[in-house]
Amino acid sequence: MASDFDATRKLFHLPDGLIYLDGNSLGPLPLAAVDKVAGMMRDEWGDLLIKGWNAAGWMDFKGLGNRVGRLIGAEPDHVILGDTLSIKVYQALAAGLEMVPERRVILSDTGNFPSDLYMAQGLTGLLKQGYTLKTVAPEDVAGAIDETVAVLMLTQVDYRTGRLHDMASLTRAAHANGAITVWDLAHSAGAIPVDLSGCNADFAVGCTYKYLNGGPGSPAFIYVAPRHADVAKPALSGWLGHEAPFDFDLDYRAHAGIARMRVGTPPVIALKSLEAALDIWDLVEMAEVRARSIELTSLFVDRVEAACPDLTLASPRDPLARGSQVSFAFEHGYAAMQALIARGVIGDFRAPDVMRFGFTPLYTTEKDVLDAVAILAEIMDNRLWDNPEYQTKSAVT
Ligand SMILES: *Cc1c(COP(=O)(O)O)cnc(C)c1O
Repeated sequence: MASDFDATRKLFHLPDGLIYLDGNSLGPLPLAAVDKVAGMMRDEWGDLLIKGWNAAGWMDFKGLGNRVGRLIGAEPDHVILGDTLSIKVYQALAAGLEMVPERRVILSDTGNFPSDLYMAQGLTGLLKQGYTLKTVAPEDVAGAIDETVAVLMLTQVDYRTGRLHDMASLTRAAHANGAITVWDLAHSAGAIPVDLSGCNADFAVGCTYKYLNGGPGSPAFIYVAPRHADVAKPALSGWLGHEAPFDFDLDYRAHAGIARMRVGTPPVIALKSLEAALDIWDLVEMAEVRARSIELTSLFVDRVEAACPDLTLASPRDPLARGSQVSFAFEHGYAAMQALIARGVIGDFRAPDVMRFGFTPLYTTEKDVLDAVAILAEIMDNRLWDNPEYQTKSAVT
């Protein structure tokens, strides 16, 4: 398949005069989502009411799981959507710990997204069985995998720097030491090709509102390897993961396969919006998205380094060692990002000093990159960041 990125760009609503380099945080609106969601609300929720569950197939969203699954190298019928990523982290970690009952260490890294670490802390605090969450520097993970580790829980692409973990080799090392892996693909799905099946991954989780463009709060996904799908124990044993939800049994029995990772009622409206996004993803190949992403990120790095000597590259220089984002460190990064946003270039900021830019080939062009660098250079050359109106921090950075 030849991915046509000029064509996919036309399928998004991109406000005039805006250069959007934050699709790694929240993807833009697929134009078709508006009618899809409105139609669902009017014709299905509106007219069918409760009949919609059967007549409009609201409960049957395995197809969407498989469409996400194609992008992350999952076997068919081993990805399910629902809840938020934090919840899916909890489920995967709990199931993983249960599979290695004699061990007490969760190994992660200090580059992980805090919510993943918080969920681990909450779970181990509840279990009260002497679990410890051990975090090491990202570059020390391989050396820290030993026979005390129950679960290796990592986010593949570092949310701040874009640094990429080698999923295949770390999974191999974990397995050689008898540990289970939980991979968070929040900044991988739709950003880089992932081969869960080929890497022999155990569990994986991720969200759909970043690179996948499902919309704010669109449901998360969880993958369970086929060899574990019928044995993984659901810690969040909600009725929709039951073998027969509509039998209304008083006792929980897990459903066969990935469906046991469902918890409660699916977010049908959000799934409709995600469906519109996946219609676009169906038009492209991840290998081609990756090739284009490397062109865009490399161009950005080269041009920023040439034009803005005060910014320090905080992402790996080797494009194969980073995801689809580029970060630059700058002491006044927050204010500089505000100055950029005021001039129509949207990136974001991560404490303490990281200016972060996401590159999303479905709708980001080379012209976007060049125009963004020109505006950034103007801000840096003229110290335009040094303006009190850019110093006040909002709740969401
Ligand atoms: C974005 C992100 C989250 C957010 O979790 P939500 O429950 O969707 O809010 C969690 N983990 C990682 C690694 C992320 O990048």
